[in-house]
Amino acid sequence: MSSAPFHVVIIGGGISGLSTAFFVMEEAKERQLHVQCTVVERDSRWGGKILTNQTDELLIEGGPDSFLTSKPWAMELCRTLGLEDQLIPTKVENNRIFSLCRGVLRELPQGLLSFRPQRVETLVSGGLLSWSGLLRMGAERFWPTSSAGQSEETLGSFFRRRFGAEAFDYLIEPLVAGIYAGDADELSMEATFPRFKELEQEHGSVIKGMRAAQAKAQVGATPRSPGSTPSLFVTLRNGLGTLIEALTQRLIGHGVQLVTGCGCQEIQASLQNKGKFSVLLDNDTMLNADAVVLATPAFRTAEMIRQFEPEAANILEDIPYASTATISMAYPTELVEAHIRGFGFVVPRKEQRPLLAGTWTSLKWPNRSKKGETLIRCYVGGRGRQDILERDDRELVNTVQQELQSIVNISSPANYTEVHRWMQGMPQYVIGHQARVAKIRERLLPWPLLHISGAGLSGIGIPDCIREGKRVATSLVQSFLSKAVPTS
Ligand SMILES: Cc1cc2nc3c(=O)[nH]c(=O)nc-3n(C[C@H](O)[C@H](O)[C@H](O)COP(=O)(O)OP(=O)(O)OC[C@H]3O[C@@H](n4cnc5c(N)ncnc54)[C@H](O)[C@@H]3O)c2cc1C
Repeated sequence: MSSAPFHVVIIGGGISGLSTAFFVMEEAKERQLHVQCTVVERDSRWGGKILTNQTDELLIEGGPDSFLTSKPWAMELCRTLGLEDQLIPTKVENNRIFSLCRGVLRELPQGLLSFRPQRVETLVSGGLLSWSGLLRMGAERFWPTSSAGQSEETLGSFFRRRFGAEAFDYLIEPLVAGIYAGDADELSMEATFPRFKELEQEHGSVIKGMRAAQAKAQVGATPRSPGSTPSLFVTLRNGLGTLIEALTQRLIGHGVQLVTGCGCQEIQASLQNKGKFSVLLDNDTMLNADAVVLATPAFRTAEMIRQFEPEAANILEDIPYASTATISMAYPTELVEAHIRGFGFVVPRKEQRPLLAGTWTSLKWPNRSKKGETLIRCYVGGRGRQDILERDDRELVNTVQQELQSIVNISSPANYTEVHRWMQGMPQYVIGHQARVAKIRERLLPWPLLHISGAGLSGIGIPDCIREGKRVATSLVQSFLSKAVPTS
């Protein structure tokens, strides 16, 4: 349609940047629009937080290990990339999660995550809640909505208000705040779990709202084990790295220029020349671009746009990030099998332990370790708990092994350990987050072909990043179409 190609430069080769590039090229092809695309990644590998390491018959996820099925965008992308037959559900037979309560693991009732907990009395008999705590939790259905619900509030405020302090501390806090490695008394309900507030407003109760929504929901084509309910999470048989490989292969097929091991220092733009951007790379190469997408952590994005948009840069810098680490450990199965069951456990902040959570990886997913070996992954750090990351890898492993000894009585050292640190890796959507994002978008209005995406702004989960990639790609292609000069 157009004579010269539009050039899009995407900075950041995590799932946000790669999926944006993929959707740009797919949509451009469909619209017969001539688009050239370059993706620039500072690291020597693609994937950002998605990092799968396969060693000696162990499959280790350094970052995310799965994605939610209730948000369809990741599953859809896998299908489009031909990975559908590689999507695997969790091992249904081990579907149990525990919460650490006064140093002891207590099983969370089945169905808790979907607000249909079964055998709730086990919360009391299992020692997680007192009778009064259980009654207060159940009273959520009849609990009045309050004026606090009208304004922005923290996760802590909302869930304590609706379900009571006890249920919050041991059931809800480690599950919801844990996703962000965050502090529930800082995270914004509106920016993290807006649906719960909507349910409260619409139905007067979260429980009533969830049940109404479930009654309406259709059972989708989510992978599941025979005879089971759809898996809440899925992953790929050979790890999430498969998704990154498939994406980069498709991008190569589309002729996208993939640059690794060289970051972007700065974007240069001026309103006089606002149709164009200059992208200065670490090796002093300058790329000319019609459009730029910054799919990088917010504080990195700030550095790159400061020269021409200092106010937006300041706001981006105000988005806090938490640091975490994952510690994967392989044990001889016979030494651990008597001690572990289920998918793993979460650790409420109230317990004041160094661990955030532990996953019995080999019990949660198939094909993660060779026969006779069991893979375990622990998660440490997070908002207010990141001092632990000052320890070196050996000390971290020792700390985690001491924790496992104290919690599940695993006393033998692991055969193999692998530590992945994610310094400033987890954006924190604290109170005011949505207002910040709105201000950033407002500041960028004079630059319709500059997009800021990535987990720092509009959703930290893999499906959210992909949804955002598609939104940005559609917007770019629309803008190009409106500028394209039809050829005769
Ligand atoms: C330990 C951990 C566990 C998680 N578990 C899950 C999970 O189970 N499920 C789930 O859905 N989500 C999970 N998440 C969240 C999810 O993995 C991330 O939010 C998501 O992968 C972020 O993708 P992104 O592309 O936005 O950012 P990133 O993956 O951070 O990618 C940004 C990229 O930009 C690059 N970059 C930075 N600056 C520059 C520059 N100047 N020039 C060029 N490149 C640059 C970086 O090197 C990086 O590769 C987890 C996150 C962590 C840390």
